[in-house]
Amino acid sequence: MNNQLSSVERKHLERVKSLPCSVCDDPAPSEAHHIKQGSHYLCCALCEECHRGSFLGWHGQKRAWAVRKMDELDALAITLMRLYVKANA
Ligand SMILES: [Zn+2]
Ligand SMILES: [Zn+2]
Repeated sequence: MNNQLSSVERKHLERVKSLPCSVCDDPAPSEAHHIKQGSHYLCCALCEECHRGSFLGWHGQKRAWAVRKMDELDALAITLMRLYVKANA
């Protein structure tokens, strides 16, 4: 797989990171969580805690996700919705 980001992919990831957290609405900047590694258009915007927090985060015990009954696709849907809202503002 080509690990080099194209300029369009880089721009997309910057836009994702400029959104609030898709799980807890923590304000930007966020981190981009790749649902599928290497698929830059399958990224959701997450704060550090909801992303990598050992208790709350997706890469941990996922408690922030569990209390909201969310999975990665729910978070992706919110990220996409916010991207479109922003693009059309
Ligand atoms: Zn969060
Ligand atoms: Zn991640």
